[in-house]
Amino acid sequence: MIIPAVVEAAAGWKSMLENPQAETVFENARINGEPFGRVFDIQRFSIHDGPGIRTTVFLKGCPLRCLWCHNPEGMSPSPIISFLPEKCMGCGECVRVCPQGAHHLVASESDDSTITHVYDREHCITCGHCTEVCDTRTVEIVGRPMSVKEVMKEVVQDKAFYVTSGGGLTLSGGEPMAQIDFTVALLSATKEQGIHRCLETAGFANRERFLRVLPLVDLFLYDFKETDPGRHAEFTGHSNQLILQNLRFLHDAGARIQLQCPIVPGFNDREDHFAAIAALSRSLPNLTGVQLLPYHPLGKSKLERFGLKPAVHVSDQPLRLNQLEGWIHWLREQGVPLLNPNGSAPA
Ligand code: SF4
Ligand code: SF4
Repeated sequence: MIIPAVVEAAAGWKSMLENPQAETVFENARINGEPFGRVFDIQRFSIHDGPGIRTTVFLKGCPLRCLWCHNPEGMSPSPIISFLPEKCMGCGECVRVCPQGAHHLVASESDDSTITHVYDREHCITCGHCTEVCDTRTVEIVGRPMSVKEVMKEVVQDKAFYVTSGGGLTLSGGEPMAQIDFTVALLSATKEQGIHRCLETAGFANRERFLRVLPLVDLFLYDFKETDPGRHAEFTGHSNQLILQNLRFLHDAGARIQLQCPIVPGFNDREDHFAAIAALSRSLPNLTGVQLLPYHPLGKSKLERFGLKPAVHVSDQPLRLNQLEGWIHWLREQGVPLLNPNGSAPA
């Protein structure tokens, strides 16, 4: 059965997919034979992406389209322009350099001192010229090509913190498996440095890709988003069949896996889904733990900045604490090795 809210949401994402910046072409970029990654963020001193203090590298491109995605700028493999007009000081530099005439500074009819900055995303070709001249970071390009060497330069800076805290590198996204050559090269370089490696994945990738990363990953942070294959397809664009097959494959191959379950009000905060989390965890006895990830409307607030259409019905409210506590209590009673919301083991 397709529920009306889902139809509405699907329409929202359909508009997003029609945006020219949201195509889903996956390729492995190489320059002079070296794999290059498309990186949209590097966060140092991250404490929520695996054990200890970590550097999290976010790679662009994801084959899924989760309605609640909190990193919508990472979905498309291509660079995307971030536009925050409230930061603009009206210097006009972007207007001067844009080959497409995509920036307009419009004076208010009633008050000459008030200027509205209009950015025409339809005509923008993402050349990045305006981002190079904007001192206020009103316009920024998100998703730059980086070599393994460039990323490693940032990663190794905090090696001392990884050692003392039990941390390391986390690859996230987007979906790191979508840029498999770069992911393998970066994991290999980090392994050579003796740095711990986590890979955050939604699991939607060919088995052959998982075979390549298996010997390089110390801990998989593996998403389980929805039990019902049909609902999974409605919420994310694909069924969960391949994802569950890969999860079992990795588990049976001896990988260390932490299951991550986003809980989104109105989507998967259902008894049958929590019962399925419990059953799945029982059937995978070697999981290092299960973490519930309560929905936060952060991704929704980012949509406007990236010119993406919102999935209008996804809640503006985070999950209520008492609801979450109820489910945590119930799952613990079922024997699920539940981690604290920050990923640490319960005291
Ligand atoms: S360059 Fe930056 S600050 Fe200047 S008008 Fe353009 S967006 Fe505004
Ligand atoms: S990225 Fe290039 S085309 Fe797009 S607005 Fe900036 S200068 Fe113009």
